[in-house]
Amino acid sequence: MTARGEAESQTGAVVTRFAPSPTGALHAGHALAAIESHDRARAAGGRWLLRIEDIDGGRSRPEHVAGILTDLKWLGLHWDGEVLFQSARMALYRAALDRLRGMGLVYPCFCTRADIAREVAASASAPHGVDGVVYPGTCRAIPADVAAARLGEPHAWRIDMAKAVDRVGPLDWVDGLAGRVRADPLAQGDVVLARKDAGTSYHLAVTVDDAAQGVTHVVRGIDLFAATHVHRLLQALLDLPVPAWRHHPLLLGPDGQRLAKRNGAPTLAALRDAGVEGKAFADDLRQGRLPIGFALANA
Ligand code: GLU
Repeated sequence: MTARGEAESQTGAVVTRFAPSPTGALHAGHALAAIESHDRARAAGGRWLLRIEDIDGGRSRPEHVAGILTDLKWLGLHWDGEVLFQSARMALYRAALDRLRGMGLVYPCFCTRADIAREVAASASAPHGVDGVVYPGTCRAIPADVAAARLGEPHAWRIDMAKAVDRVGPLDWVDGLAGRVRADPLAQGDVVLARKDAGTSYHLAVTVDDAAQGVTHVVRGIDLFAATHVHRLLQALLDLPVPAWRHHPLLLGPDGQRLAKRNGAPTLAALRDAGVEGKAFADDLRQGRLPIGFALANA
């Protein structure tokens, strides 16, 4: 934890963050997530941090980072301190992975997407988790010496979830809307902690950074509720402080689907270009005055 993070937790001040991935332009759904986290901190006289989740070197773009900063200012949301870029923090994620490897809780996975799809198609059930279909565990069965000899091949690192859960025992967390929740990381399966192409994963990077930034309240959309089972477990394994969470409802478009580029959600940049006033737009979202056909939903 940084010195600043420690100071904040000692004084009990609320610290929240907005953590967009710069892989596209922001739309109203992102605006809502930014406002929810921003207002939670400001209502408590706390701090609101901005973290750019750019671990995906292939899809992250500087122009989207610039767009995010412009959009937030347009909405009247001003972050505290420096913007944190995950791409600059890979060594920290590697160190966390090394710790978990030292505990014997991770294994290399050589499967391609096609391998996993084939394996899942051949099995009777295909449970889904936060990352899509739950990994069937194929590479967990590879003997350690055989896996070690194959490390020159492209591989991800996965957590052995059953072993990890055994190590930490029962866990729970407190959600501002759902109340006390029993963590069930096992249902998420052996999630990836270091992607083949990225050297870390969303789960590991978020967990390390929320602790490092002294985040006391993780405010984000309910689409990430399932991820919290995994993050709570990683906090326990890595001896990190445990924040509170608040998973807010999502904005749905006129087609009843979550807003996304693919269903034609207008970007904040397009609204701005059309002459919409950002602060008024933010206030409308705050007060539930949604564009026609839009709805908020816990789905
Ligand atoms: N970077 C994630 C996203 O854009 C959000 C991460 C989080 O809030 O935990 O969906």
